[in-house]
Amino acid sequence: MNKKKIIVLGAGISGLVTAYLLAQKGYDVTVIEKKSEPGGSIETVKENGYLFDRGPNSALETTPVISKLIDELNLHDQLVYANKAANKRYILRNNRIHSLPMNPIAFLKTGLFSTKAKLRLFAEPFIAKSKDGYYQSVAEFVTRRLGKEFLDYAINPFVAGVYAGRPEELSVKSAFPKLYALEEIYGGLIVGTIKSIKERKRRDEKSKQSAKMLSFKDGMQVLPLALAKHLGERVLYNSEVDQVTTKGNGYIVSYTKRGERYSLECDSVISTLPAYIAANIIKHFDEEAAKRLMEIYYPPVLVLYVVYAKKDISRALDGFGFLIPSRENKSFLGAIWSSIIFPGRSPDDKAAFTLFIGGARNPEIDNSDVELLIKKVLTEFNEIMEIKSSPIYSAHRYWAKAIPQYNLGYIEHENYFDEFEKRNPGIILSGNYRGGISVGDCIKNAAAIVHKL
Ligand SMILES: Cc1cc2nc3c(=O)[nH]c(=O)nc-3n(C[C@H](O)[C@H](O)[C@H](O)COP(=O)(O)OP(=O)(O)OC[C@H]3O[C@@H](n4cnc5c(N)ncnc54)[C@H](O)[C@@H]3O)c2cc1C
Repeated sequence: MNKKKIIVLGAGISGLVTAYLLAQKGYDVTVIEKKSEPGGSIETVKENGYLFDRGPNSALETTPVISKLIDELNLHDQLVYANKAANKRYILRNNRIHSLPMNPIAFLKTGLFSTKAKLRLFAEPFIAKSKDGYYQSVAEFVTRRLGKEFLDYAINPFVAGVYAGRPEELSVKSAFPKLYALEEIYGGLIVGTIKSIKERKRRDEKSKQSAKMLSFKDGMQVLPLALAKHLGERVLYNSEVDQVTTKGNGYIVSYTKRGERYSLECDSVISTLPAYIAANIIKHFDEEAAKRLMEIYYPPVLVLYVVYAKKDISRALDGFGFLIPSRENKSFLGAIWSSIIFPGRSPDDKAAFTLFIGGARNPEIDNSDVELLIKKVLTEFNEIMEIKSSPIYSAHRYWAKAIPQYNLGYIEHENYFDEFEKRNPGIILSGNYRGGISVGDCIKNAAAIVHKL
């Protein structure tokens, strides 16, 4: 038993994996969570055969830590990989969905891009590196290397699908470090992709493109529930942390549970709270760090789950779903064809879809006129999908602050947080605003933190 006492703030996937790995190494670990259940952004609701993942719908197996967790937590019976059909992805252009070309021949044939845009791609290997270094938005970077049409009809919808974000605001270096590195290391995207595939093969690693997409029969929350079950009484629920103070070489974490104040002493605190909450908790250590945490923008996202009778859908359901470029001026960002990807998302004679609304593209959505907004979105969705009926079942979840945006200048925040941790040994700022927002990245980061400790 390692006697070092560590308190993890937050029982989302970052906090739970961190605590699980620490406990495995013999640390005395406690997790403090505000809500009454584990998972944070990962929430699943199952009712009468309808399964609604209200946050993430899937995770990519980008790190071996995921399969290790599945083994150790005995989740093999629950594990489901995405249907092969989900490799096919669609993009909306002129009110029609076009499949995203996945090989050079399909690229030459596709109606998604004009001939001019296709020819423009051949110039990419000859474009020099930018002198702006990391002060480039995703939009600037992509326009310079691949052209405006590629930005509008490939990257813009992709960025909406990953970050619910805008390429004009996201920093290419912080939001898509691997894309940025292709130019930095190899001088270009096409040459870089070919060379890095070879290098990854040598290192036996998987890229996000080739990593398998997974979920669980009972939805994404299966993983946090299993981690929390394993941690048992080490997770304190309904407990809202509001302060961390120093005591000798250690810390005191104060929290409120059902109106009562409590405090716990520890040697080290790992915060996996959202940045705007962590800001209040650490502000008396460093006002500048708190200010930077508050500056991180989390746009709202409304997630809408709708189910239709299969007989009412005339178009073939043969893919992951579709994303919508902002130029198409629709009221939503895209739709996942949930029941095509994983089994058990709705009864067999029905098809379930998950739609995403808002994000940094439409941050003005709010919770007060949701019904009206949903009506507008479903009119557009039915037209695109050629559906004549109304949904048999629907449910939604409004996230007021959904996903942190790694916007331009983020690198300064990242550097400052590194410095903050050096000046305050024993406090670690973690969670999805550092090192990647995906579930896979959060798991990878948790493992890296435990390794560092
Ligand atoms: C709508 C949506 C769809 C997404 N889709 C995908 C996807 O398909 N694939 C993918 O890989 N990723 C997806 N993501 C991103 C991914 O789900 C998140 O980035 C990840 O789950 C964040 O985990 P976390 O533990 O870092 O933070 P969180 O899940 O936010 O956990 C933080 C925890 O801290 C708790 N907390 C807050 N304040 C306090 C306090 N004062 N005291 C104690 N506890 C507190 C919260 O209740 C929460 O449990 C999606 C996110 C959203 C919102």
